[in-house]
Amino acid sequence: MKTAFSITVLPGDGIGHEVTPICISLLNKVMQQVGGFSLDFESFSAGAVHYKKTGISLPDEALQHAFNSDATLLACMGMPDIRYPDGREIAPQLELREKMDLFAGVRPVKTMPGLPLPLTSKEAQNLDFVLVRESTEGLFASREKFKIEGQGAEEAAYDTQKISRRGCERVFDFAFELGRQRKKDGYKGLVTCVDKANVLGSFYFMRNIFDEIAAKNTDVSHNHVYVDAAALQLVGRPWQFDVIVTENMFGDILSDLGAGLMGGMGMAPSADIGLTKAVFQPCHGTAPDIIGQGKANPTAMFLSAAMMLQWLGNKHANDNAVAAAGKINLAVENAYATGQLLPYELGGNSGTEEISNLVFAELDKLA
Ligand code: ATP
Repeated sequence: MKTAFSITVLPGDGIGHEVTPICISLLNKVMQQVGGFSLDFESFSAGAVHYKKTGISLPDEALQHAFNSDATLLACMGMPDIRYPDGREIAPQLELREKMDLFAGVRPVKTMPGLPLPLTSKEAQNLDFVLVRESTEGLFASREKFKIEGQGAEEAAYDTQKISRRGCERVFDFAFELGRQRKKDGYKGLVTCVDKANVLGSFYFMRNIFDEIAAKNTDVSHNHVYVDAAALQLVGRPWQFDVIVTENMFGDILSDLGAGLMGGMGMAPSADIGLTKAVFQPCHGTAPDIIGQGKANPTAMFLSAAMMLQWLGNKHANDNAVAAAGKINLAVENAYATGQLLPYELGGNSGTEEISNLVFAELDKLA
């Protein structure tokens, strides 16, 4: 059993600097409350502003520390007006995912009580499913390889999608293992492959591999849904899903839809998990429209930190870290259950301070 964990912290840009310090305070608090594990944080500058100052978006020192530490906690990176010469936004978090081979983007869609969510049925107010986004290939694989060919009216830009057997097998294995675990915990245990196999050959290839992996996991149910139908069903009957697994860009898009179902980007946590490494970060971006106004919702960052503790605890057989994750989740849930919080994204005026204070108070009650 391991008890001392080193954590690389990357606050990044924008509201990352507002939600990171408070999240570290929360982690320190729960660490003291539960005991039996320690977290040693080391913070590094990286992201768009760092690129503007130095010409480097992800310094080697930060990358090396991330490789050597037990886990990385990242807030958000990128600013719309700071770009690489080819026009792309600075997104070293994508580079980190690729370099660390973090193939499974885990995006839980779990609603909190006491919020006026966009879907009002009882089922939609109690959502609890997980979207797993393949995070190393798909259409995003051509991020740095895009090409323009031809002249005049024939000039055309190409981004090529990559779907590999290895990429599929490992993310589907991950999704079925998650489905199995969830089945044990009382959920449906249903893995849904979301693709566009009726139009694109690469997705037909992906679907066939999904079926091969499904045949090896017959204790877990499975089905397929085309991405357009998935978008419809996620708005119409999202509670029918348990584990969704999909290609990188489809996952990028559908996970924002999932965040919408939860009440906004500030509510949506995530983890990017590989075979040995993992990065935990809220789904939201740097939110340039609200920087410095105290409006940033820290919930997604808190829940991502809980995912980190859970992953560390499971990986290193440290039940205290798992218990601490449970406490953060419960404190957040209890804070929303008071009915006192209404984040800005849902039309209210609960910002970083109000939300944090209530979560900290609820954590105290669990001591
Ligand atoms: P990206 O383009 O990388 O996704 P972004 O910040 O432009 O980054 P989102 O993260 O999708 O886009 O956020 C969209 C909007 O949602 C933001 O502009 C902001 O108004 C709101 N938002 C996002 N995160 C939060 C948060 N943590 N708290 C409050 N509002 C948020």
